Amino acid sequence: MNRTLVRAAEEQALLHEICRIVVAEGGYRHAWVAYARHDAAKSVEIKAQVGIERAYLDALRISWSDSERGRGAVGVAIRTGQPSIGRDLAHDPDLAPWREAALRRGIAAVSAFPLRVAGQVIGALGLAATEADAFDAAEAELLGELAEDLAFGIETLRARERHREAEAAIKRMAEQDPLTGLPNRWRLRMRLEDEIATAKAAHRPLALLMLGIDHFQEVNETLGYQQGDAMLSEIAARIVRVVGDAAKVARMGESEFAILIPNGDAGGASRTAQRILTAMFEPVTMGDIMLDAGGSIGIAVFPGHGAEADALIRRANVAMHQARQHGHGMALYTGGRDQECARRLALIGDLHRAIDGGELRLYCQPKVRFSDCEPCGVEALVRWEHPRLGLILPNEFIGLAEHSGLIAPLTDWVMQAAFRQSYVWREAGLRMPLAVNLSARDLRDPKLIERVRNLMATWGGEPEGVQFELTESALMQDPQGCLESMRRLKDIGIELFIDDFGTGYSSLAYLQKLPVDAIKIDQSFVHDMLSDTDSAVIVRSTIDLAHDLALEVVAEGVETRSSWDRLAAQGCDVAQGYVVSEPFPAETYTSWRAAMTSINDRR
Ligand code: C2E
Ligand code: CA
Ligand code: CA
Repeated sequence: MNRTLVRAAEEQALLHEICRIVVAEGGYRHAWVAYARHDAAKSVEIKAQVGIERAYLDALRISWSDSERGRGAVGVAIRTGQPSIGRDLAHDPDLAPWREAALRRGIAAVSAFPLRVAGQVIGALGLAATEADAFDAAEAELLGELAEDLAFGIETLRARERHREAEAAIKRMAEQDPLTGLPNRWRLRMRLEDEIATAKAAHRPLALLMLGIDHFQEVNETLGYQQGDAMLSEIAARIVRVVGDAAKVARMGESEFAILIPNGDAGGASRTAQRILTAMFEPVTMGDIMLDAGGSIGIAVFPGHGAEADALIRRANVAMHQARQHGHGMALYTGGRDQECARRLALIGDLHRAIDGGELRLYCQPKVRFSDCEPCGVEALVRWEHPRLGLILPNEFIGLAEHSGLIAPLTDWVMQAAFRQSYVWREAGLRMPLAVNLSARDLRDPKLIERVRNLMATWGGEPEGVQFELTESALMQDPQGCLESMRRLKDIGIELFIDDFGTGYSSLAYLQKLPVDAIKIDQSFVHDMLSDTDSAVIVRSTIDLAHDLALEVVAEGVETRSSWDRLAAQGCDVAQGYVVSEPFPAETYTSWRAAMTSINDRR
């Protein structure tokens, strides 16, 4: 009996084995286990029986309710939780419903013992004997213990089962992304290690694709996480459809997926990447919204780009960022970026020193009106004069500053320099608004307003002297929070520009709610407007719609006379770009202005 309890692996088998022992070793006529059903009739379910057929027991129609069919041994044991022992079939009036059938089979007495599992009676163990006096006190005590042991065995098995289920769930969670059901980053890494070993042994290649959804953060933040999740699920399904095997696709990060192509070379991987991008081309429909789910894919191939899982993942990731940066859709890893990484790390270290140590320079780039070619403002553009590396452009260090907590001191430096420059110009009788670029993080900084007020108090002058440019994508990162900061800046009287308009997924209708004065059409559209009809349409309709909303329109990156002419014809208000001037050190503005005036005069 004890051995059985210890060894049992499954509840049903345990019940059967106990019945068998009771009959074979205990010499009873038959034994059975009934579990209480919680139905209206309070019926029982025969779970196991030995020495009797199941049909016979079912025909007894035993119940555990307090009714005629509930007063048999099993019914009483379940209902009261107490053993019902030595019930005499020939004489017990409560056994009348079963008397005839039992006596015919030579059964003289029955007993039943409750099975208590986790504090609740779940059923009973029933025993039938051929002699009426089979259940004496000693026998009853022994059988009582046996029933308790059986209940304990059931409880243990159930606990073990729950444990197993929990373990399986934990394992699934550890290896599977709960949203898409795809393998997660950890699982992919394991799989990749295996595949690399296989590829190595067979001298075969292997490709890893890393796909990032463009602008996912904006979708999440403007439409909400539920929509974001729905979009991710849809994209995951499309990738799986293209790849044909969910086990080769993994969710690597919030909006990143990896695709493993065993035996894939660079060419094959590029074709798969192309098919995935094509599948993503179709907008994702969510309710009555249609969203373009653009993606960028980076490709790294074993053995050319690395022989270890982590290196391949890292390089596919680097390639993905390259693809995104260049807007190419996909890119094959081209190397060299690991060193670039080292340079970035070194630059972060140097940036601290640069801000305090006077290595930053204030450059500026003028903006002029199409109507009269007169300058109407300048944009402040920071430069870093690195003592060893020379002049570094902001594209290389603004991102670093944002990610290393240095953007607040950097913005402080630029604002300080801009206010000071503004003061110098004012002293020289020049009124020229200077526009400072703000990062998304600046807008979230609760101290921003106070810093601006302090600078205004220190340097004096009109609030119109300084303007701010906020990129559209920064606004979309936290529309509500930005709105608040923007209102407070407007309250001080500062003019606000939306920078890089067209790249951030916002609509002009949304902009209508923002307290802005002008938008700057992103230079990518301006560059392409002469050769690409889509860009031309975007530029023209942006100008029209912005004017409907009484916003001024600045075109960025105006490089040629022909784009100047086209923009002028479309009613664009202000131009900024190489056709007017490249950025130059802010302190040389007056000489630039003087030179320009003399050119204009000569015309
Ligand atoms: P942005 O605000 O869009 O600035 C315009 C960028 O385009 C400048 O690059 C400028 O030199 C360049 N540009 C101007 N005209 C032309 C043109 O005709 N053709 C082409 N191809 N490019 C032109 P820069 O100075 O390298 O700045 C890059 C970005 O760095 C800026 O883009 C801005 O987002 C950011 N940035 C610059 N200074 C600051 C700053 O002080 N704070 C913050 N937070 N960001 C800054
Ligand atoms: Ca700008
Ligand atoms: Ca811009």
